[in-house]
Amino acid sequence: MPIIFKLFIQYNCMSSVEKLIETISKESKKSADEVKTMIEEKQLELSGLVSEEGAAYMVGRELGVSLLKESNKVLKVENIVTGLRSVDVTAKVVKITDPREFDKKGKKGLVQNILLADETGRIRLTLWNDETDLVKNGKIKEDDVIKITGGYVRPDNLGKPNLMLGKGKAEKVNEDIEVVSDSYPDFGRSQSKSSHISAFKVGDYQSTRACLVQLFNRRPFYEVCPKCGKKVNAEGEDWKCDEHGKIEASHKMILSGTIDDGFGNIRVVFFGDTAEKVLGKSVEEVVKLKDPLTIYENIEALGNEFIFTGSVKQNTFTEKNEMVVNSVGNVNLKGEIETFIKDLNVKNKN
Ligand SMILES: [Zn+2]
Repeated sequence: MPIIFKLFIQYNCMSSVEKLIETISKESKKSADEVKTMIEEKQLELSGLVSEEGAAYMVGRELGVSLLKESNKVLKVENIVTGLRSVDVTAKVVKITDPREFDKKGKKGLVQNILLADETGRIRLTLWNDETDLVKNGKIKEDDVIKITGGYVRPDNLGKPNLMLGKGKAEKVNEDIEVVSDSYPDFGRSQSKSSHISAFKVGDYQSTRACLVQLFNRRPFYEVCPKCGKKVNAEGEDWKCDEHGKIEASHKMILSGTIDDGFGNIRVVFFGDTAEKVLGKSVEEVVKLKDPLTIYENIEALGNEFIFTGSVKQNTFTEKNEMVVNSVGNVNLKGEIETFIKDLNVKNKN
C-alpha cells in the first residue's frame, strides 16, 4: 500500500513549478536537478503539449508523490491533470449529454457526461448512477455555473483528464464566469482533434479510431541511458550517454507499423509503455529472447481496433507523415467502466 503524501501546493502563482519540484524532490529523495530533468523529458516526450506544471504533476505521480491541492485554493480547468484528488473547481456547464444505460454483470448503471469550461479550458465531468439525479432534478442545467468540491481526476480512454465526483459534490453557484470560445478543443488545451487519417496534417495532435494493420519486422528496442532515458551510442564494447558518459545500457521498446481507419492509413511509431501495451510484453522479456524478431510472429493486437492518440510528424527519411502515438485506448465503453469499477474497489479498500 503506497503512502499517499498529502502535500499542499499553491496554485496560480509564479513559483508554483518551483514549489512542485521542491516537493517532489523532498518526497521522492531525488535531487531537484534530477526532477527538473524528468520534467523536461516528460515535456519532450509529449512533444511540448503539456505545460511545465502539468509535466511536473505527471512526474510526481510516476514517482509515487501525490500532489494534492490545498482545499481552499482556486484551481483552473487548464491545471486539472490526471491523478489529482480533492479537486475544487468552478466552471460553466457548456453541454450535457443524454444519460446512457449500461449493464454490468446483470446490474444496470447510468453514465452521463457534462462538458465544463472556464476561461482557461474545458474538461469533461462524468456522472455515474445516482449522480445523474443532479441533472434529472434540474439542479444542474446547461449554462449554469457550478462549483465542484472534492472531485477527483481519472484518465479517459484517450488518456485525457476526466473529472469525477466520487465522494465530492457539485452545486450551482450564483456567479458568472468567462469561458473559452466555442472553437476551443473539448476537454483541455492538449486535447486531440478527431478526424479521418486522410485529413491528418503535420503538427496536428490527433486521435483516431483505427485498425492496427501491420507491424514492421524491426529490432523492437534500443539502448538508453538508465539515468536520463536518452538514446545512447555504442563506443566499442561500451555504451555512452552524451551527458552521463559510459553507462550500463537499459532498453526502451520501439515498434512501428501502420494503422488504417477505412479512409486512409498512416505509419505509426510506439515508444516505451505504449509499445509494451501494443505488444503485451515488457521490454525486459523481449530483450531476453534469443531472437527478438520472433515477437512479430504472434501479435494479438494486430487486426484489432483501438483509439490511437498522438502527434503527426513528417518522417525525415521518407518525407511521409507518421504518427508518434502517445496513447492506445480501448474502443469499448465496457472496458472503460470495468477500469472505473476496479478503481472504485481499490478506493473502498483503502
Ligand atoms: Zn544519460
